Amino acid sequence: MLARLAELLGAPELMAIETGADHPRPLTRAVLGAALRAALDEEPGILAPVSLHPSTEAALVATYRDLRQAGPRERARLRGCSARAADVVRLTGRARQLLKGRWYDVDDLSDAAARALEAGRVSLEDIGPVALHLPDVLRPSEVRLLAALSERTKLRVIVGLTGDEQADSAQRALAGLLAGRLGCDPVDVDEAMSADDVSADDVAAADREPGGAERGGQEFPTVSHRSTTPYSVAEIVSAPDPESEVREAIRRVLAHGESGGSIARCAIAHPGSRRYERLLAEQLELVGITWNGPSRGTLAEAPEALVLSGLVALATPPLELERSAVIAWLGRGPIVTSRGEPVPAGGWDRTSRRAGVVAGIGEWRGRLTAYARRCDVERPVDSMLALGLRDFVDHLADLCDELVHCTSWVSVARWAEAALKDYVAWTDDDVHRQIVLALEELPGLESLEPLAGLPAPVRHERISRTLTTSLDRAAPRVGRFGHGVVVAPVASLVGVEAELLVIVGAIEGELPGRTSDDPLLPVRERVRAGTASLIRERTDVRDRRHLVALLCGAARSVVTTARLDHREGKPTILSRWFDGDLGSGAVGTSMGSFAGSLHRVARGDVPACDALDYELASLLMWQEAEGAGPHHFLAAMAPEFAAALEVGRARAGSFLNRFNGSVGPNLDSGAVGQVSSGKLLSATTVETYATCPFRGFLRHELRLEVIDAPERRTTIEPRDRGSLVHEVLERFVKEWLDSGRPWSGWAAADHVRLAELAVEAFDEYERRGLVGKALFWGLEKSQILLDLHRFLDSDDRCCRATGRVPIAAEYNFGGASAPPLELVAAGRPVRFRGKIDRVDRAPDGSLSVVDYKTGSSGSFTVLDSDPVGRGERLQLAIYGLAVETGPGGSGTTSGERSPRDSVCDVGAVSAEYRFVSSRAERESIGIVLDERARHRVGEALDVLVAMIDSGSFPARPGAPDRAGYKNCQLCEFDALCVADRDRAWQRVRSDPRLREYVALVEPDDLSLADDLDPNGATDAV
Ligand code: SF4
Repeated sequence: MLARLAELLGAPELMAIETGADHPRPLTRAVLGAALRAALDEEPGILAPVSLHPSTEAALVATYRDLRQAGPRERARLRGCSARAADVVRLTGRARQLLKGRWYDVDDLSDAAARALEAGRVSLEDIGPVALHLPDVLRPSEVRLLAALSERTKLRVIVGLTGDEQADSAQRALAGLLAGRLGCDPVDVDEAMSADDVSADDVAAADREPGGAERGGQEFPTVSHRSTTPYSVAEIVSAPDPESEVREAIRRVLAHGESGGSIARCAIAHPGSRRYERLLAEQLELVGITWNGPSRGTLAEAPEALVLSGLVALATPPLELERSAVIAWLGRGPIVTSRGEPVPAGGWDRTSRRAGVVAGIGEWRGRLTAYARRCDVERPVDSMLALGLRDFVDHLADLCDELVHCTSWVSVARWAEAALKDYVAWTDDDVHRQIVLALEELPGLESLEPLAGLPAPVRHERISRTLTTSLDRAAPRVGRFGHGVVVAPVASLVGVEAELLVIVGAIEGELPGRTSDDPLLPVRERVRAGTASLIRERTDVRDRRHLVALLCGAARSVVTTARLDHREGKPTILSRWFDGDLGSGAVGTSMGSFAGSLHRVARGDVPACDALDYELASLLMWQEAEGAGPHHFLAAMAPEFAAALEVGRARAGSFLNRFNGSVGPNLDSGAVGQVSSGKLLSATTVETYATCPFRGFLRHELRLEVIDAPERRTTIEPRDRGSLVHEVLERFVKEWLDSGRPWSGWAAADHVRLAELAVEAFDEYERRGLVGKALFWGLEKSQILLDLHRFLDSDDRCCRATGRVPIAAEYNFGGASAPPLELVAAGRPVRFRGKIDRVDRAPDGSLSVVDYKTGSSGSFTVLDSDPVGRGERLQLAIYGLAVETGPGGSGTTSGERSPRDSVCDVGAVSAEYRFVSSRAERESIGIVLDERARHRVGEALDVLVAMIDSGSFPARPGAPDRAGYKNCQLCEFDALCVADRDRAWQRVRSDPRLREYVALVEPDDLSLADDLDPNGATDAV
């Protein structure tokens, strides 16, 4: 490699330059960026409005590299093109001044090497004759180096020709240029020749002295055109998508190996895009094929580097420490706690959500401490998690704060080292070494771009951008050349001789890639200035040259293309070259779909690329075979697969089984455990089972819950709003009860007190982070206050009209206030607990249960026709039964009883929902606990308790409603449930074990169950 030779010869020359204490260092992208930013800071000129934008820096970096090849006269001519061109030339020139002597680039190395050769300061004894095989594009400095080299040793340059006029034009021009510079004529070499041939035979056999003398009929320096054997593409494979395309490429390589070829002599070329690079690396590693090639990514993509860059992002001033950002960072790489243990990222995510943290170190500290206290007794593990997270974020905040106050690159480098030491568990020594090297270049930036004096946000932006570009370097190469299949971009494989070449990604936009002009120095200005050497080669010309040269080295070539671009969601177009001359004569193969490719594997057209490929092809054939038996060989080999087959069949069945809701009675948690062990049930738990048994199972048996991210809350959650209103009204009524004041209706002073209690509750909910964004919360507070005052007015009217007086608030049966309600249902004792918002007594001694609701009244109107709302609205009835023997109740029986038994006067107890919301269409909806109501409660509880007892929990989505189903509208498990839940329910509802449940909850639809075709599915269990 010419660059390597330049380094070998030129580096000692550069090191000898006096630059104070330091030797010059290789110029990196980060340092060049800093130099250009420094030039922009001094005098941005016409670029002032965009001088801080990262794209400006990126464009200047590219233009700088072009202008490094320009001499003083070319730069002067460019300056005259426009004000913008003048400023760009000035800025790149200033950056060059800043860098000169301290950092060196490829041109400095080549020039230093040429100087050393010309002055005789280097010995070429160890190097000997030099052959430059298939150069692509040479920079002027490299041509100068070759000229100097030709004076000191035998030099032969072999320029490849392909026979393709378009592809060869640049190479012929290069040969002409070199020949002119080296003082020789280009020679045509007709036969195919490899690099080995040139160095071992031609050069070694030549005996002409350096400098142009002839010996033994061979003249040096020599510039040869290398002719090649004809090239062609044997096959063009059209795949449905890039994934299938890559798998097909691997199948071709395997087929080559199976047919006796060498896999190490196979090459897979891609267009150089990250997508194909990644796909190939992933698939080859999945299949287990040894491969080698350039790295599959950059250092910046290594998990450890992501930890560092994420930390810098967290330290963006002003230090917000947003919960979502901190939690996302925890998942970026191998982060450890101060004790060196992996961070419990999932646990900390849940904890911070529950604690209501949104952002700011104050919230992290305060809310996590308060949350830890709240669960100290009942959930000590959660409490410990909260305290661990609080301490971790405390340290994190200090570290981020340190970066905010770093005012020199030395301190930034030290900070980064300390951060990596504190938080990263290293898994890859190469990555560790490279990151340390990248950090070592930071102190050198002090002379280019001092941080002191910059405002904190600008300083942070510079640090962040520099670290990002410092880490944006190629990760270590994968494998060694010659070991396994070589995988690389098309341009990197030119000159490789392969038995089989597979080119993937043959689509427009990839091969050729898209061409773009330089926005700072467009081609038209470069042409006008007569700087032809600075005109960038067009992408399509360059790509075609590389592609044809690559085909020349292959004994057999296969090209693959994908018909659909998943990223852009649109069809792709086959590369113009393979649709044209390069593809003529090639056999076309079209893979219909993923299943289509498996069919080809199954037919034996191509080998399976791995065991999975083979198994899937075999399964496809098995599934499609007429009368496929119940067993596939994989079921015998893999119990998991056998189980998956069983699940699939069972779910398609028309009877309840363990895969569609029948989990059996042997649970010891949730409602099943509560029923069987006599523990306390709540009315709402039973209601949930009535509405959708599967939802009840997930919520109460498995105890799953969805914990909302507090930052996504725009306003207070309906559940929290309800709790707040309940708390306010509870305290309000209790205060009145405790005051002993005689009842005379709610007066103005009561309204004032209610508002005071509401404000106290608002403060508490704000402290707990439950209220959402300030703007919406402000509106919500006004609405809640309005609703409370309206409710008090309506309550006053109601009490005056009926003569009712509150006698209890938050009556807690099965808790602090009273023993549980003990009933008999389904032939077994069932004990209930609950918290009744309020109990009122009328002048005739009858009692009224009041339950506050803060939403709409629509879903409660079912109580008008059925006092238990088909089992889904049992709460009022159960609360009514509880107060019969509760405060002011005349009930005399205690202990177990049937809900059907009256223990006090008929009609002595009623229960109602009172709506504390302007969104409710009605002020109240209620029931009277009469004979019919008692009977319905008994019926519903018998059915539901028996169902819970038996562990039958089918998913019941309810009637279609808007875009979904009625029961699923507000269900937290919507994303978890099967997509065809409605059909699944229609299948199992005919199961005899569910007949009574269906009769309770869907009495109008019973005929449907009878009409179901029992042959519609099979029951395989
Ligand atoms: S999403 Fe629907 S069917 Fe599924 S558990 Fe929830 S309510 Fe039941």
